[in-house]
Amino acid sequence: MDKFEQIFGFINDQAEKIATDEEIDYLEALLQTLEDTLDAKFEWQVEGATKEDMRKAIQIAILKGMRKSAQPNHQMTPDTLGLLVGYFVEQFFEKEIENGSVSVLDPALGTGNLLLTVMNAMDGKLHATGVEVDELLIRLAAATADLVEQPITLFRQDSLEKLLVDPVDAVICDLPVGFYPNEEVALDYELCAAEGMSYAHHLFIEQSLNHTKEGGYAFFLVPGNLFESEQAKQLHKYLKGHAWIQAVIQLPENMFSTRAHEKSILILQKQSAQLKAPREVLLAKVPNMSNKQALAMFFEKVQMWKESK
Ligand code: SAM
Repeated sequence: MDKFEQIFGFINDQAEKIATDEEIDYLEALLQTLEDTLDAKFEWQVEGATKEDMRKAIQIAILKGMRKSAQPNHQMTPDTLGLLVGYFVEQFFEKEIENGSVSVLDPALGTGNLLLTVMNAMDGKLHATGVEVDELLIRLAAATADLVEQPITLFRQDSLEKLLVDPVDAVICDLPVGFYPNEEVALDYELCAAEGMSYAHHLFIEQSLNHTKEGGYAFFLVPGNLFESEQAKQLHKYLKGHAWIQAVIQLPENMFSTRAHEKSILILQKQSAQLKAPREVLLAKVPNMSNKQALAMFFEKVQMWKESK
């Protein structure tokens, strides 16, 4: 059995037990299990387990809990997407990662799986801030971050309201998609809809750039049809004035359950008077991940684009 499966075994058994004894939801019982582990009230040992073993074990347990509770805002960014985003962060911050630490913000932290996948991939090189409105999710993220020993400062709040976060080198975010209910807060944004409700995912892009350093980057998981909606014209206009599109990477259809759920990776650079727009935008499609040869060609294309920059 893999080490992460052994860890899952321990925390799952304990969470099931707490859920039955205390008649609470599995996810809440899992949170208690993780917090008890941190407080040394619940102990287990898997010799030689890594931070990734720990993250994966917790990820599987959270997924199990999410399936049971079926709350619509409880979504987790899967590993495959996290690893791809991590790959791009590494490409854009190669020198900075070599020489020091990169500051990162995830304004829709959720369970922290996306951010922690990226942080574990560049262990010791990123320090982060995470913002999430849902109390249970942010507590799960906090406990997981402590267990995998990644430095994340957390804020539980609506990310679209005033954020006390200094501009960062990079934003990483799997954008919440849909309408933003607080129309008064939306008025503070250039991307506030002229009529009716604004798109949360548009406002999140603007808020992310508000908190990115000039010349810094934002790595977003966006809906596949981002540039086709009826508010897309406004988004284009906003981006033209504030950011340079570096890359639009379509993800394989078979990663998503329906067309409506398909996502792409959008990489933006916040404009800076000292820098120039990229000569060419990287437009690429990630092939089916099981096709090793096609995948190698995809990474080669990214490298060629990077060298031509
Ligand atoms: N990357 C996350 C992970 O790996 O678990 C999943 C992110 S999920 C697609 C989007 C998250 O945004 C949800 O957890 C949701 O609760 C949060 N969210 C939605 N609107 C928000 C807001 N206005 N402020 C802060 N968080 C928000």
